[in-house]
Amino acid sequence: MKTNLNLTLTRLRNENNILTNLSSFINLRIVFIVTINLLTIFITMHASTTIYAESGIAKYKVGDLDFYCIQDAAGEMNNSIFAGADREILKKYTQNGKSKSSVSTFVIKRNKKSILIDTGNGNALLDNLAAAGIKTDEIGDILLTHTHGDHVSGLFNGTKPNFPNANVWLTADELKFWQASNNALVQKTIKSYGELKIITPDEKTQIVLPEITAIDATGHTPGHVAFLVESKGQKIFVAGDLLHSASLQFPHPEISSVYDNNPKQAADIRKKLLTRTVKEKWIFTSAHIPFPGFINLETDGDGFKIISVTKNNQPNNQPNNPTKNTTKNNDNTNADNVEKSFYDFTVNDIDGNEFPLRKLKGKKILVVNIASKCGLTPQYKDLQELYETQKNENFIIIAFPANDFAKQEPGTNAEIKDFCNKNYNVTFPIMTKISVTGNNIHPIYKWLTEKKYNGVADAPVQWNFQKFLIDENGKWIKSIPPKTKPTKNIL
Ligand SMILES: [Zn+2]
Repeated sequence: MKTNLNLTLTRLRNENNILTNLSSFINLRIVFIVTINLLTIFITMHASTTIYAESGIAKYKVGDLDFYCIQDAAGEMNNSIFAGADREILKKYTQNGKSKSSVSTFVIKRNKKSILIDTGNGNALLDNLAAAGIKTDEIGDILLTHTHGDHVSGLFNGTKPNFPNANVWLTADELKFWQASNNALVQKTIKSYGELKIITPDEKTQIVLPEITAIDATGHTPGHVAFLVESKGQKIFVAGDLLHSASLQFPHPEISSVYDNNPKQAADIRKKLLTRTVKEKWIFTSAHIPFPGFINLETDGDGFKIISVTKNNQPNNQPNNPTKNTTKNNDNTNADNVEKSFYDFTVNDIDGNEFPLRKLKGKKILVVNIASKCGLTPQYKDLQELYETQKNENFIIIAFPANDFAKQEPGTNAEIKDFCNKNYNVTFPIMTKISVTGNNIHPIYKWLTEKKYNGVADAPVQWNFQKFLIDENGKWIKSIPPKTKPTKNIL
């Protein structure tokens, strides 16, 4: 499957924001029951970028437990996240500058109170849970490996929790890290789950189920934790964001990604836990390895090598195993909730308050993705001037901070707001930081950049300060390149 999706992982903290051949299973007899490759959608964005959303459900038996990998989104990880890594190594272990990836979550299904590990971005998760017969109200506990956006955004739909009966578990350090966010959406998400449960990452601590232990994996984030799920001597290791590229970081665990808060610590813990995985014969899985990603590893020099992946294995003793393959209708766009008209979207302003775009009806609108550390950042001045001279002419600017290009908008929403006020006296509305490209592209930007939604043109965002002009009736007029100064001439 050819794709070149740049899997940009939205980080709530930095957004506030801010991710096969089978041999024996040695002592483990993880029985593959069913893999349902549900859906492949190809969305052509522009000549060099294709996004696909492949949803999947895979179910395994771990001892007595029904263990599912539920995919939230599929994509590829761009090598740009391995800034600083040796070019030859990157070339050897990745293809066309990318490696296959996923945003996966995991479920331990029980009769009552099933357990969910991580929640993805809230793309295909809810649909795939439903397709797997897992109801959102039967999730009794949610274990978070950490609080980056692609692990926690599926918790909350903007108004209420997606899992009304769940306790949310995370480490104390991670809660602190999450709460440091002044993002209103984060605060709402936290609040919506009541008192959070604290995980002590200590292997004597058994949380939620006697079968689950939390293992410290600090480095990727300050409170990053992994989970070892065990039943009847079978063990599966759910490693969170211990790595972001299976093809690259198994052979080269010393390479950290730009998403690792503490790259050195992340590399050390990666080596340590992969060594243990081999030694203790755990099945390895994690959020961003290719779906369904249930891997047997062995050591290989200073790194590790995949010896098998439970992808197509049939249980040896069950020739008539009830494997089912189902295909969703092609019209299912579950990773792809794009509204029909510009006015149908509701976004959040920089304080986290809802900002329905329908309130801009009758105005000409300039939409711009902004960044505070870009060579084009002085365009704030031009934007503010344009706004001041035109705001009485039924004109408005709305700006979306985005960290997609060279990480030039790394701050929190509060920091961005402060920066705009202090340096440019910005008075046009600024929204909550989002992604304007890649796998986590916000639906409003799908609409802005894809002809199939806006009805006029494909116009992917090239860099910070690309502008889009929308007319008084919500019709897409044009896209204006980043370098073009926002003066009256562009209107
Ligand atoms: Zn992460």
